[in-house]
Amino acid sequence: MPENQSFRQDYPQLDPPVRTLMGPGPSDIHPRVLQAMAAPTIGHLDPAFIQMMDQIQGLLQQLFQTKNALTFPVSGTGSAGMECCMVNVIEPGDRVVIAQNGVFGGRMADIADRLGADVVKIQVPFGQKFEPEAIREAVAGKPTKLVGVVHAETSTGVCQSLPEIAEIAHEVDALLLADCVTSLGGTPVKLDEWGVDLAYSGTQKCLSCPPGLAPVSFSERAVQALKNRKSKVVSWYLDVSMLLNYWGGERAYHHTAPINMLYGLREALLIVLEEGLDAVFARHQHHGEMLVAGVEAMGLSMLVPADYRLPQLNTVVIPDGVDDAAVRRALLNDYNIEIGGGLGDLKGKVWRVGLMGHASRRENVVTFLAALESILV
Ligand code: PLP
Repeated sequence: MPENQSFRQDYPQLDPPVRTLMGPGPSDIHPRVLQAMAAPTIGHLDPAFIQMMDQIQGLLQQLFQTKNALTFPVSGTGSAGMECCMVNVIEPGDRVVIAQNGVFGGRMADIADRLGADVVKIQVPFGQKFEPEAIREAVAGKPTKLVGVVHAETSTGVCQSLPEIAEIAHEVDALLLADCVTSLGGTPVKLDEWGVDLAYSGTQKCLSCPPGLAPVSFSERAVQALKNRKSKVVSWYLDVSMLLNYWGGERAYHHTAPINMLYGLREALLIVLEEGLDAVFARHQHHGEMLVAGVEAMGLSMLVPADYRLPQLNTVVIPDGVDDAAVRRALLNDYNIEIGGGLGDLKGKVWRVGLMGHASRRENVVTFLAALESILV
């Protein structure tokens, strides 16, 4: 046998199992997105590609419901988006208030700390939301540069209302940063109406695209804060003023754009907008409610009260005496359904059932409920 043939025996054709991704992300990828990504790669300065970049920026503005000119996808996952928003406006010594009610607020606080900010972390237990008064108290007294909040906490399933917090932040001349990784394309995100200054998302949740890009948007106030910096942005890769030489008018090389990922994102954004934002949000809400009705009918309960519960990320409380990992294993092995376990304070206490984007479908809800019931009886 030729030497290279025996080599391939150790590495057979890649054949990943076909799963239904109902966890906290990545979610099921829409087939049209996968197909778009298989198109031939072209140069990142090719006129055809540059035209596509303009389209993506326009489509992202529609999803974020903003006129912010500085709206584009950062190369990297959601955390790169988080870091990009923070590194461009925070300077050492800036007072930064982070509202943490889950794992991802903790990540924001960590990044702010690494940037040398004076970090004020306010906390409520995982599964609860912040009352605006808590933010008002935290920003009182000393000048605050930025308030960071997670709009859709994937670790808990909480949807945090933003307009009141934006108002409070602006009263003290602070910027509002919102994590929209799990909300974009699943529940309304209205940057301009709500007054959000910096927002970031990820492609692998309600956009039903593989992980790898982080859409971000900077308001005029955020751009002004960037212009008023006294020190250089400490990240070369994420420095927006340099990135804009590529995404802005000049189209000058900065780094090689992930071409095929951008094909996928373009298709994903078109899919959402073809269905229509209102219809997409109504579908997520409907299937979230269907799932809750089903789990409650089984005698299980939800962690988050209905009035601030995300329909795309459902945290189901694990009943006493039930083996968390064994249930998730059975769902995966016997039904090819992936759900998530609890993170941080909620480890071993909840299951996280995602109904994001293309995975927010009636057949997924029904199959999951039937599978869970068969495992639990
Ligand atoms: N923020 C939230 C709310 C998330 O759910 C996630 C990922 O799950 C992130 C940030 C980080 O995104 P990534 O894992 O794509 O870097």
